[in-house]
Amino acid sequence: MGAMDLNPGADMPSAPRDPAEREIPSETPGWMPENPLAAILDLVGRGERFLVCSHSRPDGDAVGSMLATGMLLEAMGKRADLVTADRIPTVYRSLPGAEGIRCTMRVHGPYDAAILLECDSVDRTRLRGLDEFYLVNIDHHATGRAFAHLNWIDRDAASVGELVYRLIKAAAVHLSPAMAQCLYTTILTDTGGFCYGATRASTFALAAELTRAGADPVQMAQEIYFSTAMSKLLLLGAALSNLRREGRLAWLSVSHQDMVRTCAAEEDCEGIVNYAISLAGVEAAVFLRELPEGRIRVSLRSKGRVDVASLAASLGGGGHENAAGVTLDGPAARALEEVLGHLRPAVEGISSRRVHGEGNGIDPRV
Ligand code: 5GP
Ligand code: MN
Repeated sequence: MGAMDLNPGADMPSAPRDPAEREIPSETPGWMPENPLAAILDLVGRGERFLVCSHSRPDGDAVGSMLATGMLLEAMGKRADLVTADRIPTVYRSLPGAEGIRCTMRVHGPYDAAILLECDSVDRTRLRGLDEFYLVNIDHHATGRAFAHLNWIDRDAASVGELVYRLIKAAAVHLSPAMAQCLYTTILTDTGGFCYGATRASTFALAAELTRAGADPVQMAQEIYFSTAMSKLLLLGAALSNLRREGRLAWLSVSHQDMVRTCAAEEDCEGIVNYAISLAGVEAAVFLRELPEGRIRVSLRSKGRVDVASLAASLGGGGHENAAGVTLDGPAARALEEVLGHLRPAVEGISSRRVHGEGNGIDPRV
């Protein structure tokens, strides 16, 4: 347990709220307060130093929500250390404060609590040393779990950044242009450019507010979608040369050798699966990447009629209904068969619309 004194009589300053409303923090993992905003702000109000982390191989939501949380804590007069196990992808390194995120495998220090964003477990961070702290879990995944002491899981949120935005508002902290930029990134990337299922009217309302607060949508889109490294396009070429289709399923893959040959970094794999799911008539898609040690990283995507989160969770991974992932034992052919074994029955029941590319003389199995 960390240095946080969870005794409500402690002499640390309290967040400005009615003490009668205060829920009692628990030393036992699993607490899901009725009012998570108040509970988190109360905890922050009574502490001084916080660790802010996210999952390994951080994506736009992980990076943007960590940075915005750090800015919120600092605006509240607290100290925040931002830590990830893997380096920040190049496209997110121009975000304000990104240079301050520390890349390490082990955490240690006099923290009052560790705030984990976008994680369904401590393991998902791939950081060691977190178990000694009071843990706060803020997540929006379908497969999210109440693994921490204090848990806030809102599966309707378009990104964890949206939850951080609500924290900023609840804390009555000024939404700075830097915060707006980071939060806009979380929404843009987690909705796949306002394309995925979690995109609602409220998502656009929030994007509009963040734009008014200083996020530049054109600049952000250019930095994220039009700043591609050559290695990524070369890797995409290798993946597309392996594209296969079977009715409503499509998959592509890259070997470790492909990664080496194209000088690709891990971050160059992001988004490759979208080319397979973009095929007309395909309902679920798989991207497989061979890791250096032989295990297989699997990315799953669905157009909405197949729940890939449940599939990933049943294999030990997790994610959203439309986008999920898992790491499986190799070789790739075996991992693929394992995934297809689950996906084939899942798409079998989908009958309504004609599959484009079928029945027109063109063999859909590329
Ligand atoms: P991607 O395919 O882009 O790596 O991940 C898609 C979604 O699934 C993301 O929201 C990501 O957080 C989640 N995800 C990917 N891999 C894993 C995993 O191994 N475990 C869990 N719990 N979630 C994952
Ligand atoms: Mn997310």
